[in-house]
Amino acid sequence: MSGRVSLIGAGPGNPELLTLLAQRRLAEADVIVYDRLVNPALLAPYAAEKIDVGKLPHHHKVSQYQINDMLVELAQSGKRVARLKAGDPYVFGRGGEEGQYLKQHHVAFEVVPGLTSAIAGLAAAGIPITHRDYASSFHVITGHRKAEGKELDWANIAHQEGTLVFLMGMEQLATIADQLMVNGMSATTPVAVIQWATHWKQRSVSADLATIVDVVTAAKIGAPALIVVGGVVKLMPELQPQLALQGLHLLIPFKAESKLFAALQDEGASVNYFDRRKKQPRAVALPDMAAGGTLVITDFAAFHYFQQQLLTLGVDGRSLNHWQLVAMNQVVANRLQETGLLADALYDEQQLDLTQPVVYLGEQAALAQLNGPATAQYLATYERIAVPQSVDLADFHAVVFPSSASVNDLYAGCDEAQRAQLQTMTCFAMGQTVADECQKLGLHAIVAAPSYDDVIQAVKKEFSTDESNRVTGR
Ligand code: SAH
Repeated sequence: MSGRVSLIGAGPGNPELLTLLAQRRLAEADVIVYDRLVNPALLAPYAAEKIDVGKLPHHHKVSQYQINDMLVELAQSGKRVARLKAGDPYVFGRGGEEGQYLKQHHVAFEVVPGLTSAIAGLAAAGIPITHRDYASSFHVITGHRKAEGKELDWANIAHQEGTLVFLMGMEQLATIADQLMVNGMSATTPVAVIQWATHWKQRSVSADLATIVDVVTAAKIGAPALIVVGGVVKLMPELQPQLALQGLHLLIPFKAESKLFAALQDEGASVNYFDRRKKQPRAVALPDMAAGGTLVITDFAAFHYFQQQLLTLGVDGRSLNHWQLVAMNQVVANRLQETGLLADALYDEQQLDLTQPVVYLGEQAALAQLNGPATAQYLATYERIAVPQSVDLADFHAVVFPSSASVNDLYAGCDEAQRAQLQTMTCFAMGQTVADECQKLGLHAIVAAPSYDDVIQAVKKEFSTDESNRVTGR
């Protein structure tokens, strides 16, 4: 089997700015080879092996030659490779060079375009790259050429009427401003610098050609950033997004995205999730199905794994004929019904007929805590195992816990240092039970009623729109 390489644009950073094709290719990939500017939050949902070939400025982690060879070797070994680059792969990303190399080595490849930071990054800061009153063209320029020993044609650039966008230009900011002025551009031409556009840590400043270096130095803004020169910068105050939770970075220990994610993101927050604990099926000694009795189903997953084991023995759902099905709660009863089974009763320990076999199905730790009748049989058909957490907690302003399980799952996956850090962070608990669970582990939680609206209100109340008041776990 021969593999293929997809050169994929990740967009400027916000994971929701990926294209549909990029998402599909990432989901299909065996391996994702990604760059430094790619937002790690964007990679989290994908199961593929992930290789970081990111280069910090001056610290070339993996050389371009090595990357080229790596792509060829991976594809030739039959892998589907997602080569993920920030923005658009063909805008200053050396994507063209990688494409040429793949072509020369007869490796099948395709390009999946992405939103370039040179356009989308400006919009995120309130700058339309063109506007009838200010610019009828735009020019995207590398600020890195000097470092490669080549000079830009400044006389030509300084005389363009349109918006100028410099990428990779922060080290050359003073030169860029000087050269534009020396070549005839007015010192009062507006300039903006936007760092980490569309990421939670986006920051921007504006000034003019004469003052931008001082303003950027005072604000301590560095790479990666976009330098925007031209009249369109004047529109920033008017067009800047004004969302209550802009710049807020929240962690929700939830397996996947949910309504809560969407609602918080719509308010301007960036939300990441941890991988929760994994369910691991356990082989158990199955009861004599022909004997009959009472089956207490404490959670639906436990029943699912029970059925899977019966099936491997060639026994299907008809073997439940002689069993009374007792669901732990209505949620379990509903799930059973979806699979075509009606629970005979909801759980009430007093009502169990202990003269017949009683079998409890559940998760290992949950069953151990259950304290049911001594004569019953307890079958833990699966267990939840901790997933080590690789996310840097220091990057978050707060954690939102939707359930007690989410508290325990996150805690179980943290090492000692991460646990200590969690104890200093702002946490939100959806409901008192969840807050109690936090307290047991030494976490300080703000309690909100267990509804999305209430938790969003609580987050808003805690974090004002004034971003400078916020502290991350750092
Ligand atoms: N292919 C990318 C550009 C790669 S060159 C694209 O289309 O966006 C790397 C430069 O892009 C950085 O030095 C910076 O100038 C710019 N850049 C990329 N993503 C950015 C972001 N989210 N915020 C600000 N600048 C960004």
